Amino acid sequence: MADTLANVSNNIRSHENNVVNGKDAKKLNGTHHDVNPAAALAKVRHEFGEHGGVNMSIEASATFTVMDPDTLRRIFAGELGPENDYFVYSRHFNPTVLNLGRQMAALEGTEAAYCTASGMSAIAAVLLQLLSNGEHVVASSTLYGGTHSLLTHFFARTCNITTTFVEIADLEEVENAIVEGKTKVLYFESIANPSLKVANISELARIGHKKGVTVVVDNTFAPMVLSPARLGADVVVHSVSKFISGAADIIAGAVCGSANFVNSMMDAQQGAIMLMGPTMNPKVAFELSERIPHLGLRMKEHSNRALVFATRLKKLGLRVIYPGLEDHPQHELLKSIGNKDYGYGGVLSLDMGTVEKANKFMSYLQNYTQFGFMAVSLGYYETLMSCSGSSTSSEMNEEEQKLAGITPGLVRMSIGYIGTLEQKWSQLEKAVLKFINEKH
Ligand SMILES: *Cc1c(COP(=O)(O)O)cnc(C)c1O
Repeated sequence: MADTLANVSNNIRSHENNVVNGKDAKKLNGTHHDVNPAAALAKVRHEFGEHGGVNMSIEASATFTVMDPDTLRRIFAGELGPENDYFVYSRHFNPTVLNLGRQMAALEGTEAAYCTASGMSAIAAVLLQLLSNGEHVVASSTLYGGTHSLLTHFFARTCNITTTFVEIADLEEVENAIVEGKTKVLYFESIANPSLKVANISELARIGHKKGVTVVVDNTFAPMVLSPARLGADVVVHSVSKFISGAADIIAGAVCGSANFVNSMMDAQQGAIMLMGPTMNPKVAFELSERIPHLGLRMKEHSNRALVFATRLKKLGLRVIYPGLEDHPQHELLKSIGNKDYGYGGVLSLDMGTVEKANKFMSYLQNYTQFGFMAVSLGYYETLMSCSGSSTSSEMNEEEQKLAGITPGLVRMSIGYIGTLEQKWSQLEKAVLKFINEKH
């Protein structure tokens, strides 16, 4: 006997449509052992709409009602929960957001996942879940500017959580920086922003586990391309605002990990998501869940064009940083740990020498040849370009930028897939030739 109204309709729905009912699932999101993210995504429980629609209905409710007052008590006591389709309040689990979580878990090959209002809130909540006052993080020196500031300034001031930044490619340096008993987290980006350094995820996970720390990886730059959890990472975080959204219209984040870890973040007494409340709106979760099925197609084309443009730009004599180029220090590494068919990612960087030259080049690309837009962020269908040192990494001082591989003239380009490849290349080439032919 179902004892919530939701379950009455759920049961009808699932019998009619032959959906796997959540009640059969022992764990929050089931377990995915597929090595291939596309195969795993195709196996996610498909939620139908309330009236048999092919798309799920949006559960736009802040609160959930029950038939029997004792049910609420049992939900609060932890006897009933989302794993058996009982929901209580949408700062805790919401069914629509949880469904997006199931897709994220499949994408990343983790047992569970849940989504948040932004990438930064996902990162902050994960770190605060794992770290207590006075504890320590070992992190890559090449990180997204916001994450770098969170660790360097905010956590140091607010909770005495300190960070040692390391050269992530130097495995010995990483291992030596971990202070046993004090260090709780090893944190890095799979492909770093904007240096495009690729982390040796499996080796770093091995070192982290040997030293008893939780390995947290930001996979924002490489969904589908890399699967950090399949390579040994414990927790994968995303800024869903970028490639996963793909339309530059939504700010969102995700936390992927074990069911235990995701549940711990929802704990009423100790859960960082539950208690700080960076909730994702279910309407936003619905929008995003409709985009994940074509994420793989988009990533293939982002990567395809980035590789073609990087190769041709290099031939024209520009200083190009792209992990798909053979001269990239981690080219072979990415080839060996990357998922087949998704290429080397959709972001490339160009070192234009000085910030003045970088700005001039970007303004040709936008205002003279219409190749792309001067804007921060990535993963859009149009090409977005920004000078990292004076924008998304400007939180870092000169020394920190140097350590992160950010030169003043570094232009980061998130390569879009709009138009035809040759049409966009001719716009890019025209701006490059104009730039080269000028005296600097
Ligand atoms: C954008 C970004 C973030 C922050 O995500 P928001 O969704 O903007 O909060 C974190 N990490 C990386 C690598 C990013 O590119």
